[in-house]
Amino acid sequence: MKLKVLKFGGTSMADASQYVKVKNIVEADPSRRVVVVSAAGKRDKDDHKITDLLYLCHAHMQYGVSCDGVFQMIYDRYAGIRDALQLKTDIEGEMKRLREKMERGISQDELVSRGEYFSALLMADYLGYDFLDAKLWLKFRFDGSVDQEASYEALRYAAGNRRVVIPGFYGVMPDGKIQLFSRGGSDITGSLAAAALDAEVYENWTDVSGILMADPRIVDNPRHIERITYNELRELSYLGAQVLHELSIFPVREKNIPLNIRNTNFPDHPGTMIMDSFEDNDDPNQEDFITGIAGRKNYTVITISKHGMSSEVGAWRKIMEVIEQHNLYVEYAPSGIDNISLVISTEKITPCLYSILGQLEKVMKPDNITVIDKISILAAVGRKMAFRTGVSGKIFAKLGENGINVRMITQGPEELNIIVGVHNKDFANAVRVLYNSFV
Ligand code: ASP
Repeated sequence: MKLKVLKFGGTSMADASQYVKVKNIVEADPSRRVVVVSAAGKRDKDDHKITDLLYLCHAHMQYGVSCDGVFQMIYDRYAGIRDALQLKTDIEGEMKRLREKMERGISQDELVSRGEYFSALLMADYLGYDFLDAKLWLKFRFDGSVDQEASYEALRYAAGNRRVVIPGFYGVMPDGKIQLFSRGGSDITGSLAAAALDAEVYENWTDVSGILMADPRIVDNPRHIERITYNELRELSYLGAQVLHELSIFPVREKNIPLNIRNTNFPDHPGTMIMDSFEDNDDPNQEDFITGIAGRKNYTVITISKHGMSSEVGAWRKIMEVIEQHNLYVEYAPSGIDNISLVISTEKITPCLYSILGQLEKVMKPDNITVIDKISILAAVGRKMAFRTGVSGKIFAKLGENGINVRMITQGPEELNIIVGVHNKDFANAVRVLYNSFV
């Protein structure tokens, strides 16, 4: 039997009118049998997320301040949805039991998890699906990692062929305590459920029509990405394009399950399809060989120069040991015959910059070390760039024509991306130039 796993984010669960949209989406396709939900999110930009209110409740309790006002807001939101949709869910009873537990002492994770729990109870009632608690199957190990094998087996057993709604964001520790993922973690629950049940697709329903080709704060109305591979997505999200929880990719990717990002408010829009690979021959946008552009500001570049360094055995190791001793990592490392540059986040390196420089002097005895900061890294990412001639030429020509000085270049041999470093002051302009030249 065909199966699609759907996850609805906070804004899709924010009020009764959003529930109606969710129901229409679920009912439009009989294979949409497993639904994972977030806690109610913001209804507008000045509103509160239920998850934030629950954290706030816990903070009040810790300092012995009454959380009645905040608790009432949480109650009102869920009772409001229940009443508007004329559902039967006993929110009063649930809230009363929760208050009693809070008085006896409740962990932060358990209290905060109630946001998704109430959402799932209500959505199950509204869809006529069974409620399936994540604590019955999503199993953490004590070290905080998910025991995938045990969780998958437990979910297959618990879900059977039923139509179910599952609360996202939490699971259970081996000792039975509720454990949360980090923020945005309902994406991971959905991905695990899709992988466990060998879904045909994992649909992640949110409030944007997929991943955009560039940051909309920099480029006006950027186009959305129709198809992107997991590898490309990793490159883009690393440099700041954020749509999904980082850890949500792995479970579906392992099983080669496509991940489709969709917009609850525009359900007919195809959104972005993320897969391991595509037959790009049938892609209507064949000629668009840039999939997306992302970037981040504020990097420091240390360049170590020494005559004959490329043939000095152990040079890389000595340099990397210094970095490792300072508990840092290098983002990119362009190199030449006589020099190696290390690109490191300025925020991370600032407290130990002089110590690093001192040690590099000592172990490398270089001819010269230079440090430049205020560097931005931009990546033009695209699987279709491979073996295409002239792409980097065009990038540099366009940046040059627009008066942008390229301070650094790197490209891996797999040609998935071209990375350029520019001064922070040129960052936004460089993103726009790249976007306008290629899209
Ligand atoms: N409700 C949680 C959060 O706001 C988890 C989620 O929505 O994915 O982070």
